[in-house]
Amino acid sequence: MEVFLRALRVLPFREVPGRRVRGLSGTRRGDAGSLTKCESPSLTKAEWQKKLTPEQFYVTREKGTEPPFSGTYLNNKDPGMYHCVCCDAPLFSSEKKFCSGTGWPSFSEAHGTSGLDESHTAILRRLDTSLGSARTEVVCKQCDAHLGHVFPDGPAPSGQRFCINSVALKFKAGKH
Ligand SMILES: [Zn+2]
Repeated sequence: MEVFLRALRVLPFREVPGRRVRGLSGTRRGDAGSLTKCESPSLTKAEWQKKLTPEQFYVTREKGTEPPFSGTYLNNKDPGMYHCVCCDAPLFSSEKKFCSGTGWPSFSEAHGTSGLDESHTAILRRLDTSLGSARTEVVCKQCDAHLGHVFPDGPAPSGQRFCINSVALKFKAGKH
């Protein structure tokens, strides 16, 4: 039974690459009922452009990068949760934020991570070869927003550094 449940939990995670496409067609038919927590995961490019600031659009929908040391949340040490600026999904907790010195907000793991299991987080990893070298892109599982990249040079115990653009995030102070 436990194995069966685990398989069920893994399924939506594996299906994610196709989910966006289904979400798009579903929304056009006016069927967005199953996307409860998400404000608008499948907007068109023009709709995202209208909803977001030019900086937010450039980073999250066009895989841009904000200039280092420019972000609002770089030095934010308040307790709270960092949400996706596009769809409000909870992405990173302040408890896992650290100062990497790189100029971008850095986190050692995504919210919901359990050991090495990221199936309960709101992020996905994707191979990114856009700069000629293999990097791991981090995107919002719910709305496909580009968030940043993850590198294997973070602090123990995870050893990971999620290098995330401030403009892709919306901080909500307080308990979570
Ligand atoms: Zn999102």
